[in-house]
Amino acid sequence: MAIQLFVPTFDVDNCLSEIKECLEKGWTGMGFKTVEFEEKWKQYTSLPNAYYLGSATAALNLSFDILKEGYDWKDDDEVITTPMTFISSNHAILLAGLKPIFADIDDTLCLAPESVRAHITDKTRAVLFVGLGGNTGRYEEVVKICEEHNLKLILDAAHMAGTRLRGEIPGKEAEVVNYSFQAVKNLPTADSGMLCFKEAEFDKIARRKAWLGINKDTYSRSTGGNYKWRYDVEYVGNKYHGNSVVAAIGLAQLPHLDMDNAYRRQLASWYDQMLMPCGDKIKFITVPEGCESARHLYQIMISDRDGLMTYLNEHDIYPGVHYVDNTQYRMYAYAAGTCPNAAYASDHLLSLPMHLRLTYEDVSTVAECVKEFLAK
Ligand SMILES: *Cc1c(COP(=O)(O)O)cnc(C)c1O
Repeated sequence: MAIQLFVPTFDVDNCLSEIKECLEKGWTGMGFKTVEFEEKWKQYTSLPNAYYLGSATAALNLSFDILKEGYDWKDDDEVITTPMTFISSNHAILLAGLKPIFADIDDTLCLAPESVRAHITDKTRAVLFVGLGGNTGRYEEVVKICEEHNLKLILDAAHMAGTRLRGEIPGKEAEVVNYSFQAVKNLPTADSGMLCFKEAEFDKIARRKAWLGINKDTYSRSTGGNYKWRYDVEYVGNKYHGNSVVAAIGLAQLPHLDMDNAYRRQLASWYDQMLMPCGDKIKFITVPEGCESARHLYQIMISDRDGLMTYLNEHDIYPGVHYVDNTQYRMYAYAAGTCPNAAYASDHLLSLPMHLRLTYEDVSTVAECVKEFLAK
């Protein structure tokens, strides 16, 4: 049987009964389950605001758009970011007319604080931190740098649903935290995301901009007053909001998140134990003291990464790569070669299969196959 990189696992009965409620009520759009999921997410994370959207990409796009306007940033003002991420993160900066400035990563694969510091100029307005694979990296140091230099912090927590740092969900320090509930992320739906602004005012603006700039959502229109049809349009907006059918899946999955992540950590520690004897040929990713990673990924670095990838594929095991150094894409070529650690990681990283259907035996099969390759 093939061992895949990611396979989402759903609480099918609960998903169906949550969805059934939407269908019976005749309410599948924004409101109803989306609002319930927002409330539950606020309780779960202790973050003050949460707005449910169609994707984390939408959340990131709104984040930079709203912060730029709210803080009066100019075109081409700079945001320090990581090259080791999914391109949604950096595209969001560019889409807002801001400039991504790439700082390098450290052995956690997250932004290296010293590199962030080195890239600060008088045009720097914000730092985008990505908790790669669920890792918090040296997040606390980056928070300090932002405080010292009066920079806004944006946390791309797409991999971090359920990650804790010193016992708490990180992100209260950030201006905004974005989560992804895309199908293979730790809290799987089909596609959706959560936008968590620190400021209530920005959350309010997001709710307008996520639906074409209209200043009353369908739900409040259908429940309030005579002039249901009368709304104003205050902003140019997009259609970014989430819907109740998909939020219903999120509601059914949320109670499983902590247990699921605990099992992911178990899988990771099995990989660690089994691969440790090859420690001279494998570089492991550092998870700092105090970080309880959601373990979205289990990554290693190895000299002949492409060779190992092919060998695993021949044995019906399908790993992945997260990610290619974004400065190697044509869009971001202006920064090519500026982040040597990211460039190295990009050529050597491999994500081993990591999902809830894997057993001890599966991990063992993968680890044995890696060892065979290294012994060749
Ligand atoms: C998946 C992902 C996103 C985008 O999430 P979507 O919900 O698919 O839009 C953004 N950033 C990172 C780091 C991701 O892995």
